[in-house]
Amino acid sequence: MRLIGLTGGIGSGKSTVAQRLRALGVPVLDADEYAREGALVLKSEICQTFPEACSGGEINRAALGRLIFSDPEARRRLEALIHPYVRQRMREETEKARQAGHRLVVHDIPLLFETGREKDFAGVLVVAAPTDLRKARVMARSGLSEAEFEARDQSQLPQEDKVRRATWVIWNDADLDTLYSRVEAWLEEVQR
Ligand code: ADP
Repeated sequence: MRLIGLTGGIGSGKSTVAQRLRALGVPVLDADEYAREGALVLKSEICQTFPEACSGGEINRAALGRLIFSDPEARRRLEALIHPYVRQRMREETEKARQAGHRLVVHDIPLLFETGREKDFAGVLVVAAPTDLRKARVMARSGLSEAEFEARDQSQLPQEDKVRRATWVIWNDADLDTLYSRVEAWLEEVQR
């Protein structure tokens, strides 16, 4: 079984590619989904570490998000809590996919390079798009302001570095149909 990493900057279209791969029958495990699950399971540890981001024992996601985007040390502490949980869940789900006979499993990891994970994969697929397009798509989708987009984008490895370190790149600089056909072409290539 081949394990492939999927990553891309905010607004690149990574989630859209993940969705398309799932529709084509490829198991895509979403690190963000397990991180959200981990935040629930590890709620009391998180609230102990970041009392300012909790009230009544519940995490205030917006407050926690602001804290970690403005304080790199806080971000490292949160990651040290959640990443081991995410890895464990992804190992479990990968094993299930292997047992179900899948020959390809994709791990969708926003900070794949930043967390030094590339060595875990047979190859890494990077989804990339011009920064202006990424900004416009994110602002339309989530109502993030331009400044919030910039802050988030700049907290990640620059897109050009991701592209340089990629095994494969899908450019998402046209319409959705074009993106889908690029995803299909990529899948054919890796399944050959
Ligand atoms: P990411 O997961 O990389 O942050 P998404 O896949 O969520 O990005 O895409 C961001 C937004 O842009 C979504 O609303 C998505 O539907 C839209 N989008 C992605 N690719 C295209 C495209 N080629 N044309 C038009 N809209 C797109």
